[in-house]
Amino acid sequence: MPPPHHHSDLAPTNPFSLEPPTRWWRSWWRSLSPTRQDRLAAIAPLISVALFFVAIVASFWYLRTEEQDREQDALMRSVHYTQQRMRLRLLERQEQIMRLARDVATEQMGTAEFASRAETLITQYPELQAITWVNAESTVVISQAAPAVPSGQLHTPARPLPPGPTATIFAQIRKQPQSVYWQPQMDPNAAPPMLQLQVPITAGVKFLGTVLAEFSVDNLLRYTTPTEILSRYTVSMLDAQGRTLSSPGGSHAQPRLSLPWIGLQPLKAYTLPVMPVGDSLSLSAQAYRTSPGLVGNGLFWLVGSLSLLTAWLLLGTWRHTGKRLRTQEALVAETNFRRAMENSLLTGMRALDLQGRITYVNAAFCQMTGWDEAELVGQLPPYPYWPKAEYANLMLKLKEELSGKTVPGGFQIKVQRKNGTCFDARLYVSPLVDAHGQHTGWMSSITDITEPNRIRAQLAASHERFTIVLESLDASVSVAPLGSAELLFANKSYRQWFGSQTTGHLQLLQEAGIVKASPQEDDNALNLRPKARNKNAEVFWPELNKWLEVRSRYLTWVDGRLAQMVIATDITARHQAEEQAAQQAERAQAASRLITMGEMASSVAHELNQPLTAINNYCSGMLSRLDSGTLTESQMRFALEKTAHQAQRAGQVIQHIRSFVKRSEPNRAPAQVEDMVAEAMELANFELRRRNVRLSHHIAARLPPVLADAILIEQVLVNLMKNAAEAIDHGGRPEGRRSVELLVRPKTLEERPGVEFAVQDTGPGLPPQVLERLFEAFFSTKSEGMGIGLNLCRSIIESHNGRLQAQNLYNGSEVTGCCFSFWIPLAEPAALQEDKDTLPQQ
Ligand code: ADP
Repeated sequence: MPPPHHHSDLAPTNPFSLEPPTRWWRSWWRSLSPTRQDRLAAIAPLISVALFFVAIVASFWYLRTEEQDREQDALMRSVHYTQQRMRLRLLERQEQIMRLARDVATEQMGTAEFASRAETLITQYPELQAITWVNAESTVVISQAAPAVPSGQLHTPARPLPPGPTATIFAQIRKQPQSVYWQPQMDPNAAPPMLQLQVPITAGVKFLGTVLAEFSVDNLLRYTTPTEILSRYTVSMLDAQGRTLSSPGGSHAQPRLSLPWIGLQPLKAYTLPVMPVGDSLSLSAQAYRTSPGLVGNGLFWLVGSLSLLTAWLLLGTWRHTGKRLRTQEALVAETNFRRAMENSLLTGMRALDLQGRITYVNAAFCQMTGWDEAELVGQLPPYPYWPKAEYANLMLKLKEELSGKTVPGGFQIKVQRKNGTCFDARLYVSPLVDAHGQHTGWMSSITDITEPNRIRAQLAASHERFTIVLESLDASVSVAPLGSAELLFANKSYRQWFGSQTTGHLQLLQEAGIVKASPQEDDNALNLRPKARNKNAEVFWPELNKWLEVRSRYLTWVDGRLAQMVIATDITARHQAEEQAAQQAERAQAASRLITMGEMASSVAHELNQPLTAINNYCSGMLSRLDSGTLTESQMRFALEKTAHQAQRAGQVIQHIRSFVKRSEPNRAPAQVEDMVAEAMELANFELRRRNVRLSHHIAARLPPVLADAILIEQVLVNLMKNAAEAIDHGGRPEGRRSVELLVRPKTLEERPGVEFAVQDTGPGLPPQVLERLFEAFFSTKSEGMGIGLNLCRSIIESHNGRLQAQNLYNGSEVTGCCFSFWIPLAEPAALQEDKDTLPQQ
């Protein structure tokens, strides 16, 4: 699929031309491939969001650092200020203690006064906790303490200073009299921390002891630190090891939420030593966690999550755009597909707007009409493809079309090609509706129906031819589905003969012996085995006085149903001809029998002569005896019996000949083979005896009866035996070789059981030229021969569906005679044969 070409129409750009930056930017953008453009368009907002986020983070970081520095400065200044105040206060107290020490030294003051002044000081300055006068012997003279001081920290008068740092410092001052601050290391949990100051009492160079002043570190911090500093910072006093001695705000302030990954460090504590104490006591302050940090963090998170949201939305948009792109691609593919389809269409398409202006034509339309798209689009009626003669008609049609009167089947119009030729077309119209559901015009499709018209005409013509042929047939053709009285088809002959009902069809089937399916078996039509006794049954139709040959066929009808077609042909003429032929054949057979008898006339005469001579002899014998008067009754009885016997014999001969030559109706009936053979031998024997030929026979026992016309079969046998005797006589065979043999035996030929009759002679046999023409009518080698005997024999045997053949008999290469044999089946073949054609043929 080609990429969407929304940017592909690029103008060539000149990279060397000096153009304003926007132009340069544009030309750069256009030089990119569409896919890169899409990718950039998708990525650029993401990058800008990321950049924005980074800038926000950076500015946050910068502001935070800035603020931190400022805060650090403020903290530093506060610590300095507090330290200064603490120093001044301590120096002031030191001054007062030193004045007290001076007054003790000048001996102006007793213990009572010391006590009262010390009490005044303690009351006035809350940081002062206790003031103790220690004499030169390191013994406590008097000690004045604030009521809050725990008893464990009190110095009992008249007791030496307990050994420890205080005593050590006392010893140090004795050597080098000067004021010393000391922060004794004490367990801060056991007692509140104290700061000690020992001031020497000196008179000139004489050391008289010290005044030991003890400050509460807590109070010192509380009373010297301004309230606004205390409220802003965690202020605490640390010992030399950095351990917190006092912290009025309680525990250490929570460190600010640290964001080390954006450069924000928690604020550092700022520490300064407390002057004049020195390093053993220091002041430390740290800023509380303040709200601006929180707000800043909130903002940061807001910006962060907004950036994330924006990025997420952009990704969403990106995916959405991707989807849209794919849809667009699918749309382009679809459009291309439709265009290809449209171009490959053989149907012409034409769109009209509501005014009838052509707004679109497809390739097929142009090809069909021969006009170009440019020549057609924008045209108003009359269109160039309208034939001039049709203007009025087409204008009317167009008006209908534009008014929305669309015909579902379309209408036929004439279209003129550019070359002036016209063709028939069918026009279908459907309304054009745009994406907003607005009706914008009409789309018409036009098909060239010249070819369909031609095909239809051809089809109609061929149908007509077919109908004419079927109608003019003198056979009736009818088709009906199995088991239904519906007549699917009937031609003119059928209608003339049987009317328009199925009755004729069904009756024909019944008469023809084509067993019709019983209704119960209808649903299983394929299993039907309709039996036809004769596939081409001949039926006499008395109403029409016609002989009809009925044939039936199974066929699958156009709707898929199994149907039976019956064709009944008028065969009256043929039937009559056949009848005539049969009569003639019958006459010929009768004539042939007469001829045979004629030929055998001398034999018959000879045969009759014997009994007649005998009768004559008996009669003349009796007459002479009667005349001589010697005729006895017994002699007469004997002679009369003999005479009657001979007369009977003569009558029998005549009877045989009469029954043989008598013209009888052709009649096939089961006939006993033995009877037929005996009758034929009786007749043939006249001839054989006269010609001095012996007849022997061999007949198989228990032969079944054959369905045959006995007279005709006898005729064949007599003919064959007569021919055999004649051949032997003509051959001039010696006494020993004058014999004819008749063999009868059962034989199955082509799977059909039957009986074979063979007549063998000892004659000269059949020369090849005779064998060729043997069965021809009027072929004879005899001077007195008629040459129709064998010809008739064959037609008789063939009418019995049998076979007749002749062959020579050999002894080595010598012909010893010839054998004529015929075979006839036991039963009628048509009854045996299963009708193969009547099965449904799919
Ligand atoms: P026809 O006996 O009147 O001549 P056929 O049709 O009976 O007529 O015989 C035709 C011919 O066949 C005979 O003329 C004879 O030449 C020959 N033919 C028939 N039977 C025999 C046979 N058994 N032996 C030799 N030739 C025969």
